[in-house]
This record gives sequence, C-alpha cells and structure tokens, in this order.
Amino acid sequence: MTDAWREIIGNTRVHEALRRVARSGSLGHAYIFSGPDGCGKLLASLAFARDINCRCGEGGAGSGEPCEACKSLDTLSHLELLVISDANKPRWFKRHDLVRRLGLDGADSRRLYAEAVVGIYEKGYLEDPMPLLEDDAVVDGFNIVTDHLFGRGSVPSKECYTPGPVSDSIRKAFDRGDLSGAEFGLLRELYEQPISVMPYRGTIHLAYVTPRKDWKFARPIQTFLSVKSMLGGRKVVIIDDAEKMTPQAQNCLLKTLEEPPPDSILILVTSDRHSLFPTIVSRCQVINFERLTSAEMDQAAAALMPGKGAELAVAAVLAENCPGKLLEAANQDAVGRLVAVRDFFTALAQDRLEGVFIFSSAVLRDAGSHRKKAQRTLRQMLELVILWATEIVRARQGLPGRIQGAEFKSALETHARSFDETGLLEASSIIEQGLGLAAINVDLGLLTGTTLFRVAEALGAGAFDEATRTRPADN
Ligand SMILES: [Zn+2]
Repeated sequence: MTDAWREIIGNTRVHEALRRVARSGSLGHAYIFSGPDGCGKLLASLAFARDINCRCGEGGAGSGEPCEACKSLDTLSHLELLVISDANKPRWFKRHDLVRRLGLDGADSRRLYAEAVVGIYEKGYLEDPMPLLEDDAVVDGFNIVTDHLFGRGSVPSKECYTPGPVSDSIRKAFDRGDLSGAEFGLLRELYEQPISVMPYRGTIHLAYVTPRKDWKFARPIQTFLSVKSMLGGRKVVIIDDAEKMTPQAQNCLLKTLEEPPPDSILILVTSDRHSLFPTIVSRCQVINFERLTSAEMDQAAAALMPGKGAELAVAAVLAENCPGKLLEAANQDAVGRLVAVRDFFTALAQDRLEGVFIFSSAVLRDAGSHRKKAQRTLRQMLELVILWATEIVRARQGLPGRIQGAEFKSALETHARSFDETGLLEASSIIEQGLGLAAINVDLGLLTGTTLFRVAEALGAGAFDEATRTRPADN
C-alpha cells in the first residue's frame, strides 16, 4: 500500500485511527473532519479516500507500482471520487506538490501570478496575456486574475476548458521569469481541471447536491452517487468547507444521509461544525483535527518553503500553526514583519520610546479597518513579539533559536545583553493578556498602544526608568 499519509505533517494519532478504519473495511457512511483551517483535513480526507479504494499489492504483488486507485487519486482523476472544493484550493494542493517537485519558491508572488495568467490564457479566457505579464505584477494582480478565471458565472462554458496553443510570447515571458521548459509544462498541467473536483465560489448551493437541468458541467452529489461504482470500489464524496452549504443544500444532503446509497462514503470537511444542521452532525462520525505543535510546524514550513531561513519561524507563527496557511503567510511579507518587531526591540534597547509609536502605527496600518482581519493581524504581530522575546531568552541561555538569518542573529545577541529574563517574561505575559483581550470586543487601536507601552515598561525602556528614578528624588 502506498503511503499517502506520510507527507501530511501533524495530527498523527488521528491519521493512525483513519488508516486502521480504512484497512479494516468497516467504514461508516458519513464522516465530519472538523478542525481549524489549514491543519490538513482536506489532505487527510484525500489520503483516506485513497486508502479506502487502494488495491496496491493485490495483482502483481511486490512490483512496487501504485494501483490504479492510487495513481488516479494523485491526479484527482478518479471516477469514484467527487471533491466539492473552493475554486482556489485544488490548485493549492497541486501547487504544493509542484513547489516540492521543482523546489520553486512558493512565496514568490510574481511566479504565482504568472502561473495564474497562463492558466487563464490556456483556458481561453484571455486573448492577449502579455499586458498581464508585464513588470510589477503583484499578488493583488493574482487575485484579480483568479477572480477572472472563476468568476464568469458559477459554471464556465465548455470552450473555456479547451486548452489553446501556447504562444511564443508566453514562453518568452516565462524565460524572463527564469522558468525552464519542464517547469513550464508542469505549470500548464497545474491548470488542467482535475475531473474529480467540482469547484465552487462563495457558497455550496443546492445545485451541487441535487441534479438540475440548467447545470451542464457538473456531477452533483446525488447524480454521482446514483450510478453504481464501475470499479467495484466505494464511491467517496468529499465536501470541503462544508459549512458553506446553504440551508437548502444541507436539507437536501440530509436526505442522502438518511438513506445512504450502498458503498458510498461522504466526508464533510469543516472548520465550523456548528454551522451544520445538528441533524447532519448526528448522522456523521466526527473526527477532530488540531493545530500542529511548533516543532511539527517548523517541519512543515521547512518542507513547504525550501531554502528559506528567517521566514520559516515567522511564517509558522503567521500561519497560526496550520500548514495550509503557510503560502498565504509567506505572502504577508513575513520578513518585513519580523524586521518591524526587531526594530521595536532595538528602539527599546536604546531607550527610544518613539519605537512604540512607530511599531504600533505599523501594526495598525497592517491591520486595516476590517475587524476580523484586524484582530488576526494584531494577534499575529503580538505572537511575533512573544517569539522574539523567547528568542532573546534562548540567546541569553546559549540555546539554539528558531529564527535564522545573520541580520536577525546579531540583533538577538545585542538584545540578549540589553534585556533580562524577568523583564522578558513579564513582557510575554503582558502580551498574553493582550491576546486574550484582542479576542473580545475592545478598541484594537487602544489595546495595541497600551499593550506595547506596558511591554516597553516591563523591559525598562528609557522614559519609564527616568520617571521611576526622578519621582522619588523630587519628593
Ligand atoms: Zn493503491
């Protein structure tokens, strides 16, 4: 049996249990894979689907060749598998694979963008890709382009999936971005629609569950399950982000769950189980996934972002210990944020209190006005301050740190001479309190300012020393 699990980092006990179940053959009809976004639930559901139908070692035993089920599940072209997934996600895990195979820099937004442009061009949406491949294309452009790719109504017409010839101008554009011919071929592959994936945008509505006349392209769940398995295996339906099902879709799915077709397995993947009808949840076996530990996260970061140094620990923090968010985190200017944290501590070490203002206004600028995003940004930045404080303590104790890179190492050494353990521990606990408050309804601007000032105070920065020294003398 090929091991699809080995590459998924974290949640090992859950994986073990699922492997045992798949091997035993005594499977339930429906599962809920529940846990935070990006912790590997979708990958686990695919590995589970693979184990369920795997025939490796049955024919030509010892050949070491993967069976048909394993091969087709790798390319998501398995006839007995239906994945309902966010339009952007299947590309994510294929991209992850590609990044690994090619050692491409996953954090390079320009390349991601170029991939998207080629994808659109190949699908015939775009007559002339060159204007989109000119210089200064950034990650915002990537979003515009993917919207363009998937945004023309929910079901793109068939012509859009006919690959066009690759023009020389595109090749040249890729030459400029120093992609080799082989890489170029793989990028094209990346954008070919896997037949098992039915992409959605926004919500999973009724048409994804039940057959409808005006729905030309897709295989809704009930149609898919009504046809008997051709390969004699089990049919697997994976609904990713199942909480995005509309009430109508959930209602309709409930009927399938009440009378499950034989040899079918439904896996609902969700980070928000409470948005599912209780009647659905009660008919499913719930499998709980968790965030990765820091050690697992470092391992995932090293695997997904090869050749990276200082960014790894930062990206791990920004991704909130969920490897699925690493690429996104890497695009958030991980190093820039760490530089801001470093400079904050440097300012405090030099008794420059304006460092507090500079840092807090940088944080608030990053956070923006959308509350949920602002909360997240603030949380991430405060976590980075804790990371830095922990690294200083480690440097003081001569222990190896998580942050690599000479520009950070030398700053850490300086800071290790400027701050002591007591202050650093106090600073960390002040931030822990701040993190708790960030989750509830407080003024985030005020919270940022006061938290950082208290950190400065705990670390004995300038004016506070002055104040505590002068006041008793005045009396
Ligand atoms: Zn197999």
